[in-house]
Amino acid sequence: MEQLIVDSRKLYRLPWNMADNGITWLEPTAQCNLNCYGCYRKNIKNSHKSLEEVKHELDFFQSQRKSDCISIAGGDPLLYPHILELVADIKSRGIKPIINTNGIALTKELLHELKKAGVFGFTFHIDSKQGHGRSKEWFGKNELELNELRLHYAQMLADEGGLACSFNSTVYADTLQYVPELVEWAQKHIDIVDTMVFILFRYITPQLPYDFYAGEKKIEWTDVHYHADHEEVTNLIAQDVVKEIRKKFPDFEPAAFLNGTHKADDFKWLLTERIGTKDKIFGYLDNKFLEMVMMVYHWKNDRYLSYASPKTLSLGRATLLNLWSINKSVRKALKKYLKYVGTNPLRGLKKVHVQSIMIIQPVDFMENGDQSMCDGCPDITYWKDKDGNEKLVWSCRLEEPMQYGDFLRTTPRKTHEVEKETEKIHLDQN
Ligand code: SF4
Repeated sequence: MEQLIVDSRKLYRLPWNMADNGITWLEPTAQCNLNCYGCYRKNIKNSHKSLEEVKHELDFFQSQRKSDCISIAGGDPLLYPHILELVADIKSRGIKPIINTNGIALTKELLHELKKAGVFGFTFHIDSKQGHGRSKEWFGKNELELNELRLHYAQMLADEGGLACSFNSTVYADTLQYVPELVEWAQKHIDIVDTMVFILFRYITPQLPYDFYAGEKKIEWTDVHYHADHEEVTNLIAQDVVKEIRKKFPDFEPAAFLNGTHKADDFKWLLTERIGTKDKIFGYLDNKFLEMVMMVYHWKNDRYLSYASPKTLSLGRATLLNLWSINKSVRKALKKYLKYVGTNPLRGLKKVHVQSIMIIQPVDFMENGDQSMCDGCPDITYWKDKDGNEKLVWSCRLEEPMQYGDFLRTTPRKTHEVEKETEKIHLDQN
């Protein structure tokens, strides 16, 4: 039997679900100061919600589900005029406020104010297809050249102190090659970079063999915000990324996942936890370790863990020395650590950190037209339909209920129709 790249049966299935989750997604504004190619939201000027509206959404979230953190996203939330009050409000509810931003509007002063307001951490979205909007020096740079910009933000957070630091990037067919070096870069900065997230690109394209329906009405797929008029690779899966990372880190081993709503062995969220210093990774924490962390955290806090603080993540040595007797992967990592220190005792002074690498694989279309989403979607957000019914919906597809009143259904299209459509688009373009 062919060896699986990642075997779902050996991983811990993250316990996140609709009612009890690590994360919930909040969009106080749809305005952004960038126009990223792969973005799933329309950039709408002056679309800021009032603070009351946003607080109402938070009340609704809390009436529906437990959540360890709120990802404040958008648009870019740093453009939201009430961002400080919003952060303080989330903090006062006992939830961790995380800001998902491109970083452009972040100044040292604002960062300081946000820290005072209670922000727990930041996720910076930086990748090479973000178009114009950043200062000229970053335009046209590839993923590796952008590491200097990533480092700028990581350092900014480290100087302020005590803030969780994550980086997000969308992965396209032509940028997949850079992922291993981004993972290597993250290791070099393991003391100030807590998490790297790789999100696989998904768009509706001419060759996607489906028709789209809003209720009974067939709609033009080119009217949906997230579509491309040209062909694109939109079916990369999490295992492709693991395969790529293993070219540089052969023992890279994910530990936990969220499956697809329509496929048990899909890796919609695939989490790897590694333990090491800036110059050496001692090992990868396993499924049992993650299970223990989630269960203990839930038992203590009545919610599942999303982000850990940088202080907790810097307790790598204590983890190795205290937990080796109850976990195999810690034991394995400890052996490597002792060897590392044994050859040069001064290395014992170096801090050992835990770092997360997450791969996210959004919607996949099944052959029969079903859409496989993340089972236990963490990035669920608020939606109020035209009849005033409030709901929790997938944030990655929010444009659909906004435009059509509901999510779109898909049915398979015949191959010759797909070819005709692709041809028509090519003619229109010429
Ligand atoms: S379903 Fe969409 S919004 Fe939810 S976690 Fe998956 S990609 Fe994110």
